[in-house]
Amino acid sequence: IETINHCAGCGVLLQTEDKSKLGFIPAEALQKEPVICQRCYRIKHYNESSSITLQQDDFLKLLGHVGQTKALVVKIVDIFDFEGSMLSSLGRFVGTNPVLLVVNKIDLLPKVTNANKIINWVQRRAKEANLKVVDIVLCSAKKNIGFDRVITAVQEHRGDRDVYVVGATNVGKSTLINRLISDYSDLEAELTTSQYPGTTLDLVKIPLDDGRFIVDTPGIVHLHRLTEVVKKRDLARIMPDKPLKPVVFQLNEQQTLFFGALARFDFIKGEHQSFTCYTSNAIQIHRTKLERADDLYADHKGVMLAPPNEADLDELPPLVKHGLNIPKGKQMDVLISGLGWIKVNSLAGSQLAVHAPKGIKVITRESLI
Ligand code: GDP
Repeated sequence: IETINHCAGCGVLLQTEDKSKLGFIPAEALQKEPVICQRCYRIKHYNESSSITLQQDDFLKLLGHVGQTKALVVKIVDIFDFEGSMLSSLGRFVGTNPVLLVVNKIDLLPKVTNANKIINWVQRRAKEANLKVVDIVLCSAKKNIGFDRVITAVQEHRGDRDVYVVGATNVGKSTLINRLISDYSDLEAELTTSQYPGTTLDLVKIPLDDGRFIVDTPGIVHLHRLTEVVKKRDLARIMPDKPLKPVVFQLNEQQTLFFGALARFDFIKGEHQSFTCYTSNAIQIHRTKLERADDLYADHKGVMLAPPNEADLDELPPLVKHGLNIPKGKQMDVLISGLGWIKVNSLAGSQLAVHAPKGIKVITRESLI
């Protein structure tokens, strides 16, 4: 009897053990022709793209050569976690190739938000991060907003290049790429996947009319994002799925806000002022006095202060304190990567502290809204 070891679609070594790893095929599917891994099967039949993810170092190993080839890099970031999803160390991967910055999930911004203001803000952030971009496009892959602008920009900038689509996990890359596939490719056409030497990972290539490809790359895992750290059931609570409804708190110094048991925001010193919280509405915000905050957390985490629930608390890294100073005269956001941000409204300056799970990125930035 002939045994089949490799996927007829992408050539990856097949295995029946681990669904989340490359080459997985349900045992019963081994009997069917052609023998293809679950990932290829899904791409072919459901138009679902890869859910395989990589750590950043592996990503650079896998795609390090792209800098030496002619490519258009389509980099997808999530407006809800802009700094957390920016992948600022991708310079080596990009080389001198043009980068098209696609800012996804704009449906989450409050309806009144001015798009030009957002684009200008993104431009300044890109400049700060030393990222040269040929264009910035705002879109919502889920709500199908701005998708024509993405297509137009890709056409305009790709010339005779292959298109590499990159992004951190959860930015909406799969959602977007599925739309690209249905827009660009004749579904009957053979999807090609190619394996890169020295790795077990393959890239999904979607053929274009002119012999070029759109290349879907694995999502990059960034462990400094809260979305990577919480349990699946809490992920649905911290990621908003409707436009943000900011909640405003008027606070005196020495007051604290709890975001479930996930984070804590202390207003240590400054004049009475308002703070606007842009977080998922599924997260309860609880106000207390700073002097009571430690006890409150110890006594009520996992119950009154949730998510996470008591059962999942053990797996949340312990909260670590970040001291922050908001200078006078500047409107700033405090971003807790993956959880959202708190806008400090006063221009008078203030002294703050954020307690966030160890490893989670906490930064201040120019206000987005
Ligand atoms: P990937 O990990 O980058 O491939 O991301 P997915 O396409 O799997 O999307 C991750 C999550 O973000 C899913 O829950 C999507 O429903 C959601 N998502 C994707 N695009 C959008 C969008 O444009 N707006 C909103 N609100 N959510 C989105």
